[in-house]
Amino acid sequence: MQEIDIIVVGAGIWGCTVARTLAEKGRKVLVLERRAAPGGNVRCETDAESGIEVHTYGSHIFHTHLDDVWEFVNRFVTFNGYQHKVLARYNGKTYFLPLGLTLVNQFYGLDLKPSELPAFIAKEAGTAHGEPSNFEEQAISFIGRPLYEAFIREYTRKQWGMDPKNLPASIIKRLPVRASYDLNYYPDYRQGIPLTGYNSLFERLLDHPNIALECNVDWLEWRRTTNHELPVFYSGPIDALFGYKYGPLPWRSLRFETERIDVADWQGTSVVNYTGADVPFTRIHEFKHYHPEQKDVMAHPSTIICREYPKTWTPGDEPYYPVDTPASREKLALYQAEAAKCPNLVVGGRLGEYKYYDMDQSVGRALAVALQFCGR
Ligand code: UDP
Repeated sequence: MQEIDIIVVGAGIWGCTVARTLAEKGRKVLVLERRAAPGGNVRCETDAESGIEVHTYGSHIFHTHLDDVWEFVNRFVTFNGYQHKVLARYNGKTYFLPLGLTLVNQFYGLDLKPSELPAFIAKEAGTAHGEPSNFEEQAISFIGRPLYEAFIREYTRKQWGMDPKNLPASIIKRLPVRASYDLNYYPDYRQGIPLTGYNSLFERLLDHPNIALECNVDWLEWRRTTNHELPVFYSGPIDALFGYKYGPLPWRSLRFETERIDVADWQGTSVVNYTGADVPFTRIHEFKHYHPEQKDVMAHPSTIICREYPKTWTPGDEPYYPVDTPASREKLALYQAEAAKCPNLVVGGRLGEYKYYDMDQSVGRALAVALQFCGR
């Protein structure tokens, strides 16, 4: 590929979807990736000894209700039908999430029927005045105070490093609340892990004659030394793009502690949340459970687990979660105004838009901006 029409910065799920869509519309695309391989934070490594697909940056489960997104990703990989369940460890006992009939009946030792749950929750929630205005009020209105204190308050404090009263209600709305025994963590039945692994999704997205990939390239350095007038689709952090001129946006980062254990099955499921303040990590992942179809891997006498520790982002850390507060929104608006002044620039993805997108939402946004760019 000699000529280039467009530069895509970052080979995560947003960047690769943009690149593929533009390439299929006949544009010649150069993808620049800072790391040694594509995939962004969805990147996995297969453990040579056991064959376990280790999610290097924490668990990723693809799930969606968006038809166009599901169709798009299924052109490249087939999903294994894994349906995500999350357990919670609190006070020495194991419970089933999400917030629903199973949890309520388990926690209180009751046998409520679906029709009895709303009145029970209303009693536990007490009298609230008006619409919930923050995370804590919203969570209590969903499940009442005792469940909030057991399963949400301390986990959230660990995850976000602040009092849940200072967080927006939108974060807890990510969790389903069910008046049933449905234990599927996500409300999307279209869900799974690529049979051939997540890395194959990225390799196949980029496998097109109109796409060239260059890894180990820091765009912020590259643009200092290269003259060009090409359109740029950028998916790194928006504050970094403008040299942090208004100060860094607040990000949450993560530290992972990965361990091999000589037992075939350590916790019996893929994710257990630790919702109390007694341990500093939020959850433990056990990756082999994402591929129940891999019988040899499941039966292998060792397993790989990973403890996830949230931390405040400081320069040099990987940004994972945007921290949505009134102050961060104000700062974000300043960076967005800078981006709007650049005629040939599209900023996107979780880091670019500073939005708590799931993978499918990033794909959906990428399809929309790339098709809009090409005039559909
Ligand atoms: N959350 C919680 N307890 C849990 C699970 C989630 O308090 O056991 C809250 C927490 O504030 C978290 C939010 O719900 O940040 C969203 O959870 P989700 O599982 O969607 O987080 P992600 O997997 O994106 O980190």
